[in-house]
Amino acid sequence: MSITTDQIVEGIRALGVRPGDLLLAHTSLKSFGEVEGGAAGVADALVQSVLPGGTVFVPTFNFSQVPWDRNATPSLTGAITEAFRKRPDALRSDHPTHAVAGIGPLAGEILADHDKHHPFGEESPLWRLWKRNAWVLLIGCRHNSSSMIHVAEEVVGVPYLNRTRTQKVITPHGTKEVTLRRPNCSKSFNRVDAPLRGSSKIIDGTIGPSKVMLMRSQDIVTVASEMLRRDPMALLCDAGTCEVCDEARTYR
Ligand SMILES: [Zn+2]
Repeated sequence: MSITTDQIVEGIRALGVRPGDLLLAHTSLKSFGEVEGGAAGVADALVQSVLPGGTVFVPTFNFSQVPWDRNATPSLTGAITEAFRKRPDALRSDHPTHAVAGIGPLAGEILADHDKHHPFGEESPLWRLWKRNAWVLLIGCRHNSSSMIHVAEEVVGVPYLNRTRTQKVITPHGTKEVTLRRPNCSKSFNRVDAPLRGSSKIIDGTIGPSKVMLMRSQDIVTVASEMLRRDPMALLCDAGTCEVCDEARTYR
């Protein structure tokens, strides 16, 4: 039996999301099995869950896979985010590797000027959502998908922040190349789960077969920052298990 849009809205509301709230969602379409309306149906449920008056955001990252064109470059962070960014009511931030899409009254303000800031640095969309204590909703995925944890790396100023990469950007005058900060690997971000649970900061639920978690961005950043202040390498993969994290460990 397929899950309906209404059931997804009910499931999100049952966790504690209310009309008018600010919400950042990381999502897995597959986690629902069959779903009414497919990815677009789930995108619609996300929007409806904060109506009236709320604003919802999703990552629409392309990393540096293809040259950046704000209106055309597909989101590589899942089918739901791609359906979301294609809606006529969606705005998308202008960041060549880590754009965020939003729908609702605060979308314009939160997404503005992302091209002038690091992906998750001061005044990036996720930084601004942290400052406003937005909800973070994980649908069928875990903290290793939770980009808010990168904000904690910025807040603490971990030594591996300044890794960069180049990315092509399509402009009206041709393609140019820009050098951008490259966020680190997130494979080990599930380490925040135990301390968040230890202080009862995660609300668990299910929507059909999908396991969902809801938490506040300030709780995530507080807990992850405490871990990183104790050990700036706390969120890197174990030595020898991940090339990206091994390289990050060489930065001082
Ligand atoms: Zn890693």
